[in-house]
Amino acid sequence: MTRIPPLVMFDLDGTLAESKQPLTSEMARNVAALLARTKVAVVSGGALPQYLAQVVARLPADANLENLYILPTSGAALHEWRDGQWRKVYEERISENDAGKIQAAMEDGARASGVVDMAAPTRGPRIEYRGGQVTFSALGQKAPPAEKKAWDPDHAKRRALQAAIAARLPAGFTAAMGGSTTIDVLRAGVDKAYGIRRLAERLGIPESDALYIGDELVPAGNDEAVFRTNAQVRAVSSPQDTARAIVSLLSS
Ligand SMILES: [Mg+2]
Repeated sequence: MTRIPPLVMFDLDGTLAESKQPLTSEMARNVAALLARTKVAVVSGGALPQYLAQVVARLPADANLENLYILPTSGAALHEWRDGQWRKVYEERISENDAGKIQAAMEDGARASGVVDMAAPTRGPRIEYRGGQVTFSALGQKAPPAEKKAWDPDHAKRRALQAAIAARLPAGFTAAMGGSTTIDVLRAGVDKAYGIRRLAERLGIPESDALYIGDELVPAGNDEAVFRTNAQVRAVSSPQDTARAIVSLLSS
Protein backbone atom coordinates (compact mmCIF):
# COMPACT_ATOMS: atom_id res chain seq x y z
CA MET A 1 0.00 0.00 0.00
CA THR A 2 1.28 3.43 -0.91
CA ARG A 3 0.84 6.49 1.31
CA ILE A 4 -1.69 9.15 0.47
CA PRO A 5 -0.01 12.14 -1.31
CA PRO A 6 0.52 15.25 0.90
CA LEU A 7 -1.39 17.29 -1.71
CA VAL A 8 -4.12 16.08 -4.07
CA MET A 9 -5.08 18.60 -6.76
CA PHE A 10 -8.15 18.45 -8.96
CA ASP A 11 -9.40 20.09 -12.10
CA LEU A 12 -13.06 21.07 -11.59
CA ASP A 13 -15.20 20.84 -14.74
CA GLY A 14 -15.29 17.32 -16.16
CA THR A 15 -13.25 16.03 -13.20
CA LEU A 16 -14.96 16.81 -9.87
CA ALA A 17 -18.26 17.80 -11.50
CA GLU A 18 -19.92 18.14 -14.87
CA SER A 19 -19.31 21.54 -16.49
CA LYS A 20 -20.57 24.34 -14.18
CA GLN A 21 -22.63 21.83 -12.16
CA PRO A 22 -22.37 21.40 -8.37
CA LEU A 23 -20.56 18.40 -6.89
CA THR A 24 -22.88 15.42 -6.42
CA SER A 25 -23.50 14.40 -2.78
CA GLU A 26 -21.32 11.35 -3.33
CA MET A 27 -18.44 13.47 -4.68
CA ALA A 28 -18.83 15.97 -1.82
CA ARG A 29 -18.51 13.11 0.68
CA ASN A 30 -15.44 11.78 -1.13
CA VAL A 31 -13.75 15.21 -1.12
CA ALA A 32 -14.58 15.70 2.58
CA ALA A 33 -13.08 12.28 3.36
CA LEU A 34 -9.94 13.32 1.50
CA LEU A 35 -9.82 16.67 3.37
CA ALA A 36 -9.81 14.75 6.64
CA ARG A 37 -6.63 12.95 5.53
CA THR A 38 -4.60 15.36 3.38
CA LYS A 39 -4.44 18.75 1.66
CA VAL A 40 -6.68 19.19 -1.35
CA ALA A 41 -6.60 21.87 -4.06
CA VAL A 42 -8.94 22.69 -6.93
CA VAL A 43 -7.48 24.52 -9.93
CA SER A 44 -9.74 25.42 -12.82
CA GLY A 45 -10.81 28.26 -15.09
CA GLY A 46 -13.67 29.70 -13.03
CA ALA A 47 -13.69 32.65 -10.65
CA LEU A 48 -13.88 32.19 -6.86
CA PRO A 49 -17.71 32.51 -6.53
CA GLN A 50 -18.09 29.59 -8.90
CA TYR A 51 -15.94 27.36 -6.66
CA LEU A 52 -17.86 28.45 -3.59
CA ALA A 53 -21.13 27.42 -5.25
CA GLN A 54 -19.93 24.31 -7.10
CA VAL A 55 -17.62 22.88 -4.43
CA VAL A 56 -17.57 24.52 -0.99
CA ALA A 57 -21.35 24.87 -0.56
CA ARG A 58 -21.73 21.15 -1.28
CA LEU A 59 -19.29 19.96 1.40
CA PRO A 60 -20.61 18.68 4.72
CA ALA A 61 -20.63 21.28 7.53
CA ASP A 62 -17.78 19.56 9.36
CA ALA A 63 -15.44 19.41 6.33
CA ASN A 64 -11.87 20.43 7.15
CA LEU A 65 -11.68 23.60 5.03
CA GLU A 66 -8.25 24.45 6.47
CA ASN A 67 -6.96 21.70 4.18
CA LEU A 68 -8.68 23.11 1.08
CA TYR A 69 -6.90 25.42 -1.39
CA ILE A 70 -8.72 27.14 -4.22
CA LEU A 71 -6.89 28.30 -7.34
CA PRO A 72 -9.42 30.17 -9.51
CA THR A 73 -8.73 31.44 -13.02
CA SER A 74 -6.37 28.57 -13.91
CA GLY A 75 -3.90 29.32 -11.10
CA ALA A 76 -3.85 33.13 -11.49
CA ALA A 77 -5.02 33.34 -7.86
CA LEU A 78 -4.81 31.28 -4.67
CA HIS A 79 -7.23 31.36 -1.74
CA GLU A 80 -7.00 29.55 1.59
CA TRP A 81 -9.44 29.19 4.51
CA ARG A 82 -8.12 30.84 7.68
CA ASP A 83 -9.95 32.12 10.76
CA GLY A 84 -13.34 31.35 9.29
CA GLN A 85 -12.92 33.06 5.93
CA TRP A 86 -11.36 32.70 2.48
CA ARG A 87 -8.15 34.71 2.27
CA LYS A 88 -6.38 35.62 -0.94
CA VAL A 89 -2.73 34.51 -0.93
CA TYR A 90 -2.00 36.09 -4.34
CA GLU A 91 -3.72 37.21 -7.53
CA GLU A 92 -2.11 37.95 -10.89
CA ARG A 93 -4.78 40.46 -11.78
CA ILE A 94 -5.43 41.79 -15.30
CA SER A 95 -6.21 45.55 -15.36
CA GLU A 96 -9.59 46.70 -16.71
CA ASN A 97 -7.79 48.54 -19.48
CA ASP A 98 -5.99 45.36 -20.61
CA ALA A 99 -9.21 43.36 -20.19
CA GLY A 100 -10.87 45.73 -22.70
CA LYS A 101 -8.11 45.11 -25.25
CA ILE A 102 -8.35 41.37 -24.67
CA GLN A 103 -12.12 41.47 -25.21
CA ALA A 104 -11.62 43.23 -28.57
CA ALA A 105 -9.01 40.60 -29.55
CA MET A 106 -11.48 37.85 -28.64
CA GLU A 107 -14.32 39.34 -30.68
CA ASP A 108 -12.13 39.95 -33.75
CA GLY A 109 -10.40 36.59 -33.39
CA ALA A 110 -13.64 34.66 -33.02
CA ARG A 111 -15.06 36.29 -36.16
CA ALA A 112 -11.86 35.63 -38.12
CA SER A 113 -11.66 31.99 -36.98
CA GLY A 114 -14.99 31.19 -38.66
CA VAL A 115 -15.88 28.59 -35.99
CA VAL A 116 -18.22 30.82 -33.95
CA ASP A 117 -21.31 32.58 -35.27
CA MET A 118 -20.97 35.82 -33.32
CA ALA A 119 -24.46 36.91 -34.40
CA ALA A 120 -26.12 33.81 -32.88
CA PRO A 121 -27.77 34.19 -29.47
CA THR A 122 -25.89 32.74 -26.48
CA ARG A 123 -26.93 31.36 -23.08
CA GLY A 124 -25.28 33.77 -20.67
CA PRO A 125 -22.39 36.09 -21.51
CA ARG A 126 -19.84 35.03 -24.09
CA ILE A 127 -16.95 37.02 -22.66
CA GLU A 128 -16.29 37.27 -18.92
CA TYR A 129 -13.60 39.24 -17.06
CA ARG A 130 -12.68 37.23 -13.96
CA GLY A 131 -9.90 39.34 -12.45
CA GLY A 132 -6.93 37.11 -13.22
CA GLN A 133 -8.37 35.86 -16.49
CA VAL A 134 -10.65 36.81 -19.37
CA THR A 135 -12.72 33.91 -20.67
CA PHE A 136 -14.38 33.45 -24.06
CA SER A 137 -17.21 30.88 -24.07
CA ALA A 138 -18.29 30.02 -27.60
CA LEU A 139 -21.89 29.09 -26.66
CA GLY A 140 -22.20 31.40 -23.65
CA GLN A 141 -21.38 30.63 -20.00
CA LYS A 142 -24.77 29.08 -19.28
CA ALA A 143 -25.15 26.71 -22.22
CA PRO A 144 -26.21 23.18 -21.14
CA PRO A 145 -23.29 20.79 -20.38
CA ALA A 146 -24.35 18.30 -23.08
CA GLU A 147 -24.27 21.03 -25.77
CA LYS A 148 -20.88 22.21 -24.57
CA LYS A 149 -19.47 18.70 -24.62
CA ALA A 150 -20.74 18.07 -28.16
CA TRP A 151 -19.40 21.33 -29.55
CA ASP A 152 -15.70 20.52 -29.99
CA PRO A 153 -14.90 16.90 -29.05
CA ASP A 154 -11.60 16.87 -31.02
CA HIS A 155 -10.40 20.35 -29.91
CA ALA A 156 -10.26 21.54 -33.54
CA LYS A 157 -12.55 24.54 -33.03
CA ARG A 158 -10.77 25.61 -29.87
CA ARG A 159 -7.40 25.27 -31.60
CA ALA A 160 -8.58 27.60 -34.40
CA LEU A 161 -10.04 30.08 -31.89
CA GLN A 162 -6.95 30.00 -29.71
CA ALA A 163 -4.67 30.81 -32.66
CA ALA A 164 -6.92 33.61 -33.94
CA ILE A 165 -7.23 35.22 -30.52
CA ALA A 166 -3.53 34.78 -29.65
CA ALA A 167 -2.53 36.61 -32.83
CA ARG A 168 -4.52 39.68 -31.73
CA LEU A 169 -3.60 39.92 -28.02
CA PRO A 170 -1.68 42.80 -26.50
CA ALA A 171 1.93 41.90 -25.49
CA GLY A 172 2.38 40.01 -22.24
CA PHE A 173 -0.72 37.79 -22.48
CA THR A 174 -1.34 34.24 -23.68
CA ALA A 175 -4.44 32.40 -24.89
CA ALA A 176 -5.02 28.85 -23.66
CA MET A 177 -7.70 26.25 -24.18
CA GLY A 178 -10.09 26.25 -21.27
CA GLY A 179 -13.12 24.00 -20.78
CA SER A 180 -15.05 22.32 -23.57
CA THR A 181 -16.04 25.58 -25.29
CA THR A 182 -13.69 28.16 -23.81
CA ILE A 183 -10.48 30.05 -24.46
CA ASP A 184 -8.83 31.67 -21.44
CA VAL A 185 -6.51 34.64 -21.66
CA LEU A 186 -4.05 35.10 -18.80
CA ARG A 187 -0.82 36.95 -18.12
CA ALA A 188 2.02 35.20 -19.96
CA GLY A 189 3.54 32.53 -17.72
CA VAL A 190 0.38 32.13 -15.62
CA ASP A 191 -1.29 28.74 -15.98
CA LYS A 192 -2.04 25.62 -13.95
CA ALA A 193 1.69 24.86 -13.78
CA TYR A 194 2.27 28.30 -12.24
CA GLY A 195 -0.49 27.67 -9.70
CA ILE A 196 0.96 24.28 -8.73
CA ARG A 197 4.42 25.83 -8.31
CA ARG A 198 3.07 28.65 -6.11
CA LEU A 199 0.99 26.30 -3.95
CA ALA A 200 3.87 23.84 -3.45
CA GLU A 201 6.03 26.80 -2.37
CA ARG A 202 3.33 28.00 -0.01
CA LEU A 203 3.08 24.54 1.57
CA GLY A 204 6.84 23.99 1.62
CA ILE A 205 6.62 20.71 -0.28
CA PRO A 206 8.26 19.54 -3.51
CA GLU A 207 5.97 19.52 -6.56
CA SER A 208 6.54 15.78 -6.78
CA ASP A 209 4.55 15.39 -3.55
CA ALA A 210 1.45 16.65 -5.38
CA LEU A 211 -0.88 14.37 -7.30
CA TYR A 212 -2.93 16.12 -10.02
CA ILE A 213 -6.17 14.53 -11.23
CA GLY A 214 -7.77 15.89 -14.41
CA ASP A 215 -9.90 14.93 -17.40
CA GLU A 216 -7.80 16.74 -20.04
CA LEU A 217 -4.27 15.53 -19.38
CA VAL A 218 -3.64 15.33 -23.12
CA PRO A 219 -1.81 17.50 -25.66
CA ALA A 220 -3.84 20.72 -26.12
CA GLY A 221 -6.11 19.71 -23.23
CA ASN A 222 -6.68 22.24 -20.47
CA ASP A 223 -4.67 20.20 -17.95
CA GLU A 224 -1.67 20.01 -20.29
CA ALA A 225 0.33 22.68 -18.41
CA VAL A 226 0.60 20.27 -15.48
CA PHE A 227 3.13 18.25 -17.52
CA ARG A 228 5.54 21.20 -17.12
CA THR A 229 5.68 20.51 -13.35
CA ASN A 230 7.05 17.57 -11.41
CA ALA A 231 3.60 16.74 -10.04
CA GLN A 232 2.36 13.17 -10.36
CA VAL A 233 -0.65 12.90 -12.66
CA ARG A 234 -3.71 10.70 -12.91
CA ALA A 235 -5.91 11.04 -16.00
CA VAL A 236 -9.63 10.45 -15.53
CA SER A 237 -12.47 10.27 -18.03
CA SER A 238 -15.39 11.61 -15.96
CA PRO A 239 -16.47 12.59 -12.43
CA GLN A 240 -17.45 8.94 -11.88
CA ASP A 241 -13.90 7.92 -12.74
CA THR A 242 -12.58 10.61 -10.35
CA ALA A 243 -14.75 9.19 -7.57
CA ARG A 244 -13.12 5.80 -8.13
CA ALA A 245 -9.65 7.40 -8.01
CA ILE A 246 -10.49 9.11 -4.67
CA VAL A 247 -11.83 5.88 -3.16
CA SER A 248 -8.62 4.13 -4.17
CA LEU A 249 -6.52 6.95 -2.59
CA LEU A 250 -8.56 6.72 0.61
CA SER A 251 -7.80 3.02 0.86
CA SER A 252 -4.04 3.73 0.81
MG1 LIG B 1 -11.74 19.66 -17.13
